[in-house]
Amino acid sequence: PTPFFDAVIIGAGAAGLFCAARAGQRGLKVLLIDHADKVAEKIRISGGGRCNFTNRELDVRAPHRHFVGQNPQFCRSALSRYTPQDFIALVQRHGIAFHEKHKGQLFADRSAEDIIAMLLAECADGGVQHWQPCGVKNIVFLADSAEGESDSCYQINTDRGPVQARSLVVATGGLSIPKIGASDFGYRLARQFNLPLVERRPGLVPLTFDGADWAPYAQLAGLALPVEISTGSKKERMAFLEDLLFTHRGLSGPAVLQISSYWQAGQPLAINLAPGLDLPAALAQAKARSKKLIANELAGLVPTRLADAWASTDADWQRPINEASDKALARLAERLARWQLTPTGTEGYKKAEVTLGGVDTRALSQQSMECKSQPGLYFIGEVVDITGWLGGYNFQWAWSSAAACAQALPQG
Ligand code: FAD
Repeated sequence: PTPFFDAVIIGAGAAGLFCAARAGQRGLKVLLIDHADKVAEKIRISGGGRCNFTNRELDVRAPHRHFVGQNPQFCRSALSRYTPQDFIALVQRHGIAFHEKHKGQLFADRSAEDIIAMLLAECADGGVQHWQPCGVKNIVFLADSAEGESDSCYQINTDRGPVQARSLVVATGGLSIPKIGASDFGYRLARQFNLPLVERRPGLVPLTFDGADWAPYAQLAGLALPVEISTGSKKERMAFLEDLLFTHRGLSGPAVLQISSYWQAGQPLAINLAPGLDLPAALAQAKARSKKLIANELAGLVPTRLADAWASTDADWQRPINEASDKALARLAERLARWQLTPTGTEGYKKAEVTLGGVDTRALSQQSMECKSQPGLYFIGEVVDITGWLGGYNFQWAWSSAAACAQALPQG
């Protein structure tokens, strides 16, 4: 006979492992399947190898502050029932040391491996069966199950043969970093069951610029500095105060990764390269007391490489500051404080930390993550159209959506 489970979970990443553990600990018979060679590769490489597993500043009453999607309010229910504090308590129970780095971001002291080991121990505690590597060929919805009692189930045809389950949980994540197992499986399955999808695009991703336009700035590759970055028109303006990193092809660093999730193709970005500084006043003062080159004076206000590169782009800025016109200095201040530039694209899924878009939340119950039109089918984690900010928010969504689902899965 075909093996039968209360729930089969596809994807042994952050959401899948956590959901399997919690469902198993409730007494459900759970099978967890993943096609990749190694478990939870994304956790392993996350947070520079230390896994930024949650964020202390997450405000569960105002999810739109830290989450992007067509309806960020959707995640409120799950986030408020399984909070960052709940996950922190779990990490502490496992004796994993952690620290706060920046703006509420919590990282494991030693290694992301500790978080993976914790999740695997939780799965073992729940008696979860784990098949990996094991591919999934296809899924068939059986309206009449052989089990008699329940009236429907799913048949999952895997590389190790068919299995059946009352509930099917899709935790296959997004499209970023295809070389470690990312696939469009979840989106294809959503289509198979006629669920609406929100268009996907890379998020938390470096932005690129046209080669010729970028030439004057390419020499700045490697330079990092704090900036204020913004995009969008007045009403929808989004801004971040974070570090910017110049690269050979464009811009990266936390400031750019954050804004990339809000940036729309064709829209300009505005960057203040000297936030918190009154540049017009500082330059006017310098003009009154100094005979040094503008670039040298500017180097007292912004990083030297930036000062040199900036001054070199305009003949009026390549002279002693006391000889510069007020107009030229005003223009210089304006160019630094309101640098307007339009990216031509992104570095794509190869470099993106997340995928924006995904299964439309209107198709899902915010209580349980179950599809409203397809009983027994659940979507959790990044495959859903909920994307967090940089800083541990994506993992918290994985934990919270997994917990909501695990709690709702029926038994027996
Ligand atoms: P994943 O963790 O991606 O798991 C999906 C699983 O499904 C994978 O194991 C995959 O092998 C499996 N799978 C896919 N397709 C199939 C298929 N067809 N059949 C079987 N199995 C399949 N977020 C943070 O909050 N903090 C961080 O520090 C952080 N750092 C990051 C660093 C990098 C470089 C990247 C790429 C992402 C980072 N993220 C971080 C984002 C975070 O990793 C993801 O949002 C999170 O892992 C999503 O969890 P998930 O379980 O939905 O998907």
